[in-house]
Amino acid sequence: MMRTDSTASVKLTVIAREIRHCTRCSLFRDRQKAVPGEGPENAKMVLLGEAPGREEDIQGRPFVGLSGRILDQVLRDAGLKREDFFITSVVKCRPPRNRVPRRIEYETCIRAHLWRQIDAINPVVICLLGGVAAKALLNVNRLSEIRGKVVKRGRKTFFPTYHPAAAGRNRSWYQALSEDIAKLRSLLGSERSE
Ligand code: URA
Repeated sequence: MMRTDSTASVKLTVIAREIRHCTRCSLFRDRQKAVPGEGPENAKMVLLGEAPGREEDIQGRPFVGLSGRILDQVLRDAGLKREDFFITSVVKCRPPRNRVPRRIEYETCIRAHLWRQIDAINPVVICLLGGVAAKALLNVNRLSEIRGKVVKRGRKTFFPTYHPAAAGRNRSWYQALSEDIAKLRSLLGSERSE
């Protein structure tokens, strides 16, 4: 069924408000600001990270710290702009001391918020940034097995690659992330599935 962008926009606004008031898991206790995500409601791609860090927690916006600068750079190098995509993470509140989010936290957050965001946007592809996003969405333990490959699950298309923070620590991962983001350009030419 066709949806108008304004319907998706209203849905995303409602979900974002719920996220800012969410107390479904214990991560809400330490947050300064929840980070619902940002980007156009009709984005062809959702970029999905792990969890907000220090800077994101302060600003309430995704990927605005060091990882964000790396992400912006690889997108720019591929001729893409972050403003064209919806950017969010598997959990919307910063874990204490940036620890890895626990399964119960990301499962709760994905069920309560992320699937609804993705359903509202209906992207061509969901780019999974890093092992936690790949584990949380595809239940794979080793990112290396599926990195840089298109993975179809039901009617959704996923594309797992390295997290920008990991790419910032390792030159060959940076190279691989850049190549993967370049590959995504051709996927973005695809038609929507409905
Ligand atoms: N890392 C993530 O995975 N998400 C953010 O929003 C910021 C850093």
